[in-house]
Amino acid sequence: MIASVLYGAKDLRVETYLRPDLLPGMVLLRNRCVGICGSDLHYYEQGHCGASVPDRPFILGHELTAEVAAAGDGVDTPRVGERVTVNPARACGFCDYCKAGRGNLCRKTIMLGSASTTPPTNGAMAEFVTVRADQCHVLPDDVDDSLGAMIEPFAVALHAVKRAGGVSGKRVFVAGAGTIGRLVAITARAFGAAPVAISEIVPSRRVRAAEGGVDAVFDPEAKDLHERVHALTGDGFDTVFEASGSATALRQAFDLVRPGGTIVQIGTVPTDDIPLPGYRVMNKEINYIGSMRYGNVFGEAIRLVAAGRVDLRPLFSGKFKQSESAEALNFASDKSRSLKVQIQF
Ligand SMILES: [Zn+2]
Ligand SMILES: [Zn+2]
Repeated sequence: MIASVLYGAKDLRVETYLRPDLLPGMVLLRNRCVGICGSDLHYYEQGHCGASVPDRPFILGHELTAEVAAAGDGVDTPRVGERVTVNPARACGFCDYCKAGRGNLCRKTIMLGSASTTPPTNGAMAEFVTVRADQCHVLPDDVDDSLGAMIEPFAVALHAVKRAGGVSGKRVFVAGAGTIGRLVAITARAFGAAPVAISEIVPSRRVRAAEGGVDAVFDPEAKDLHERVHALTGDGFDTVFEASGSATALRQAFDLVRPGGTIVQIGTVPTDDIPLPGYRVMNKEINYIGSMRYGNVFGEAIRLVAAGRVDLRPLFSGKFKQSESAEALNFASDKSRSLKVQIQF
């Protein structure tokens, strides 16, 4: 098969690669559309993603729509020919977390297109990929290939909004207008949050976010930020989603949240060692909670997209052929121009 293989920082080669073996319980997928995620960009730009350092070349990609090309022994669903999207986090299914329905916390998770385990696991930026059958979710006709490959990042946002404990009627602030931040804002709005504000340091992303149906867009470095927040919310936001991964944005969240409010951490902050205002957490009774990928929300995510309850199309900003994989990653790296970039097969 033809695969887009990452050899190191800025070294992606489209080349012939051994097609993966189909094992019992697995399905062989023929990829149709693969989205480029922030983690793919970390691997591409730096050669690693945080503490995940690949020890050999591997294939990126974990946001996908594919067609089932073959099913291994013991697989009833999905069936050959069906169009599916995939939960790329393969939890073990046997540990306490998996049994309690919290497979996103499974310590034995194998992630598609990732070096979080050694050796790295090949992803979907190739003609074919294999996954465990239960990772697949069949797509209805009204979710096209591009939208199907957006279900994974949407599931991240959906899980985060659920972690917040309900946002209906709540004043919501989202830090970061990248794909995940925008998806959180769209989801919070669909779930009844009002008003929904978003902040972003990249000016062109602020412009795009303003077109996308939020009630207010802030420059987090603006001098008058706190006056504007006060004018919009009074005492601050009920719920703040930190989706930028910036330590500065995280620190700011503790000022923007109102007493009794909740901060949800979704962004990947590059270090564990950030001073946080413990006194303010106590004094304002702030709930600071984490949100890790997705719980079992893929089915719900697909239904919401299929029913048109959320419109994810404004986030698309470029489609490339597989032979142009390196160009696609370079384009996606330019935050001033791009949001969600996809490769079509
Ligand atoms: Zn992703
Ligand atoms: Zn497990």
